[in-house]
This record gives sequence, C-alpha cells and structure tokens, in this order.
Amino acid sequence: MPRPILATIDTRAMAHNLARVRHLCPSARIHAVVKADAYGHGIAAARQGFAEADSFALIEIERAIELRQLGWRGPILLLEGCFSALDWQAASEHRFDVVVHTDEQIATLAATPLPRRVNVHVKFNTGMHRLGFSPTRSRDVLTRLSTHAAVGELTLMTHFARADEPDQHLEQLKRFRDLSAGLPYATSAANSAACFDFERVGGEWVRPGIMLYGATPFSHTTRPAAALGLAPVMTLTTEIIGIQHLRPGDAVGYGGAYVAGKPERIAVIAAGYADGYPRHAPTGTPILVGGHRTRLVGRVSMDKITVDVTDLPLARIGTAVELWGANLPVDEVAAAAGTIGYELLTAVAPRVPRLVR
Ligand SMILES: *Cc1c(COP(=O)(O)O)cnc(C)c1O
Repeated sequence: MPRPILATIDTRAMAHNLARVRHLCPSARIHAVVKADAYGHGIAAARQGFAEADSFALIEIERAIELRQLGWRGPILLLEGCFSALDWQAASEHRFDVVVHTDEQIATLAATPLPRRVNVHVKFNTGMHRLGFSPTRSRDVLTRLSTHAAVGELTLMTHFARADEPDQHLEQLKRFRDLSAGLPYATSAANSAACFDFERVGGEWVRPGIMLYGATPFSHTTRPAAALGLAPVMTLTTEIIGIQHLRPGDAVGYGGAYVAGKPERIAVIAAGYADGYPRHAPTGTPILVGGHRTRLVGRVSMDKITVDVTDLPLARIGTAVELWGANLPVDEVAAAAGTIGYELLTAVAPRVPRLVR
C-alpha cells in the first residue's frame, strides 16, 4: 500500500473554470497558463481539462514539448521566451510562440538560423518593472522585430502588478493603450484578476492562470473563489495514521510548540512540508477530518501534522482527511498560513501521487 496522501485532479472543474473565462471574456482568445506543471496539477491533466483553450502558455520548454507529445497541435506560448539559441531552434521546430522582452533575445534570434518563422509576443514594461521593454522604445523594437525574416505574427503584451486591487491596474492599462494605439497588432494584458475586469481591460488574448484551477486571484476574505463562480480542481487528501491522548501540560511535536490545556485527543496525519503542506501553518489552521472541520495544532513536520480531534470521537486510524480542495478552499488554508493559494498549489511535492479524473 502506498502512503495514503493523494492529490485528486478534477478535469471537469478545469473545463468549468475555463468556461467561466469564456463567459467573462467572450471576445478574447484564451491562453491557459500551465507554468509550474500546471500550477502543481500536472501537464497531462491540464491538456485534458483545458482542451477547449485556444492556446497554452508556460515557461518550461520541456513541458511545452511534452504538450506536443500529448497531442496538442494548437498554439503554445513561452512566457519568459528563449534562454538560448537552442531554445529558438526548438521553438521554431515545435511551432512555439515566444515572448521577447530583452535586446539579448532579439540578438540571439538574429544570430540563429531557424527552419520556420516564429510568432512573437513583445512584452512591454508598463509599470510593474519586472520584465519587458520600456514603452519609449516600442517603435525601435517593433521595427526591428517586424522586419526580421524569422519573425511571423507580432502580438503586444504587458503584465499587471496590481490587478487584484480595485482600479490599481488602470495606470498600466493606459500606458499599454497609448503604446498600442493605431498599431496593427493584437494585444494581451489580462491575467486572472484582470479577466474579471475584461470590459475595461480588453485585448485579443487573455492569460488566466490561477482562476482555471479554482482559486481566487484576489484576497480570499473579500472575493473568495466560490463567489467568483470558480470550482476547486485539486483536492489533497490523506488519512489519520496515529492517535495520541494528551494530559494537561503535554506538549506536541517539534519544539513542544503546542501544549494541551485540558485532556485532548490528537490525530497524527500523513502529510508534512515535504508533501507541500506549508510549514508556516500555525495552530488553528483549518482542516477537515471525516468531513468535520477542526484545527491543526503544533508544528508542521516533514511528513506529519497533528490535529485536534477531541470533539470528533469517531476519528480513528484510517479516517479520511482533506487538507484542502472540494470542501475546504485552498485559499483559506493559505490565508491561515500567511500565503496565497498559488504557493500551496505549486508547492505540492512530486512524491504526492496525482489521480486525474
Ligand atoms: C503566471 C502568469 C499569468 C497568469 O497569472 P494568474 O494570476 O495566475 O492568472 C499571466 N501572464 C503571465 C506573463 C504570467 O507569468
């Protein structure tokens, strides 16, 4: 028997969330963002669940090749572009579309003979100050790329720093509009958060990631995933593997970080930080045991956590535990641990088996 921890991936929920993007952004084509192994869900599950997407977008070229091997013949966009001449050759060979955000990437492209033209998304820094050309250089960069023999279609792209806060993306949006106005190119700006403001943000392409996996791009407390019409995709489950009876004053786990104040029953659960459960989750973090909500107590170990089951007398070895998913939003666990759903989902470790259904 393998250890009981399991990440179940619901491909119908994936399709539902993609349909939600379609509804919000009816005129746009959709890049399903599947970087970081589809936010921890697995590229094969994503290929299946997002079969109705117009394109897949990711960072890792090996995974892009895997998508081709999985039979995806449509567009694939490399979001950080090419890191070498070999990448440019592979992109050309496998018909990947490529983001270009530095002069160095243009120089490598110019120096590399390619079997066929590559479509390029030119990334502009409109205020996030992470990747992209300055808008003041748009004429020069676009002239160089549009006259390049190895470049096919051009698309203009930018990325928002604060689309999760009301109206905080509008300044960047204005800069992007100013630079793209009057040019004969398609545009792409919206991440998940901005897809919820598509009427203002617009663009021929949108690039949702987290919402496709049923987690919120906003604050969990103000705009939880369920209120956005999203369905959770990953349910992370495991089982109780031990029970301890504590007397008042008994301490639990490393550092004795939790001390029982009364007689308590503690369940030991097969999941720890080496599975991707956040080590920073404090006492009080929610968890479901046998369908009932209770709380983590003490420090998260590498392979185990401890949970208060004093009020759950039916909990015993083998009782099912949900760490997050269908009945407990990943965003709620993340908020308790001082992080975001994105981090928990992408951190689920390779040793956790995935069941795709
Ligand atoms: C990751 C990423 C996205 C998706 O962002 P979400 O917040 O997950 O929707 C979109 N565009 C780019 C360039 C990205 O790197």
